[in-house]
Amino acid sequence: MRIWVISLLSAGIILTGCSKNEEQARLTVVTSFYPMYIMTANLAKDVPGVKLVNMAPPFSGCLHDYQMTPQDMKTLSRADILVINGAGMESFLDNAIRQNTKVSVIDASKNIELIEENGNANPHIFASISGAIQQVRNIEAGLEKADPEHVKLYRRNAESYLSKLEVLKNKMHLALKNVKNRNIITFHEAFPYFAREFDLNILAVIEREPGSEPSAGELARTIELVRKNKIKALFAEPQYPVKSAETIAQETGAKVYSLDPGVTGSMEPDAYIKAMGKNLEALKEALK
Ligand SMILES: [Zn+2]
Repeated sequence: MRIWVISLLSAGIILTGCSKNEEQARLTVVTSFYPMYIMTANLAKDVPGVKLVNMAPPFSGCLHDYQMTPQDMKTLSRADILVINGAGMESFLDNAIRQNTKVSVIDASKNIELIEENGNANPHIFASISGAIQQVRNIEAGLEKADPEHVKLYRRNAESYLSKLEVLKNKMHLALKNVKNRNIITFHEAFPYFAREFDLNILAVIEREPGSEPSAGELARTIELVRKNKIKALFAEPQYPVKSAETIAQETGAKVYSLDPGVTGSMEPDAYIKAMGKNLEALKEALK
């Protein structure tokens, strides 16, 4: 038996030329979508043998009406660990997870107090920095449990990323502490955690789901609301250009700003930090 293993190993060594990556993957970690990928990329940095694969393409944004592709099924079948946002964001994965009994799932929303709306949990925890911090901690704990040999590395990576997030969070709290106008209007149900964190008041959400343009009646009511509350700023998301935002802006004189919930972007590990930095600039400009 031992001889057999050794001969396989030496065969492997000889054959490394063409499939180096495959061979080095000791642990395949699949993330469901972009925000989970960025968090996990920070945590798994330089951990030997971890192959990190993001399932939904980074331009797909939130997964509310995501359709799994055959490629996604293949990706999932190769996963040792699957990192999900949880709180219902990946409900389309439930069956696939049940069928793939060997994968261990890290639910990044575990033990986080969720905001409920009409009986459903809002899954956009990562759009607030405190939420992202909690999710990073959950993923860290999951990775350490699954890969105990490298606990030290995961811990070091977590400390480094979490300290950057804390710095950003404090900077944002300080900058937004004294803004007078705390009423905002958004175009997708992505910001309740963000608003709770920074004590902003979401007066209206124009499109609860991307692409669901409001009716003429809803639009009229929103225009009324904006006028009545003297709202100066509307926040659209870079992922979902909204016609209705332009209409409301034209009718009321409010300006359209961009607020990024961090569901799309570049794959570099600091992408979330950069996106939130931009959000801060937009908010300072919009709410002054
Ligand atoms: Zn969303």
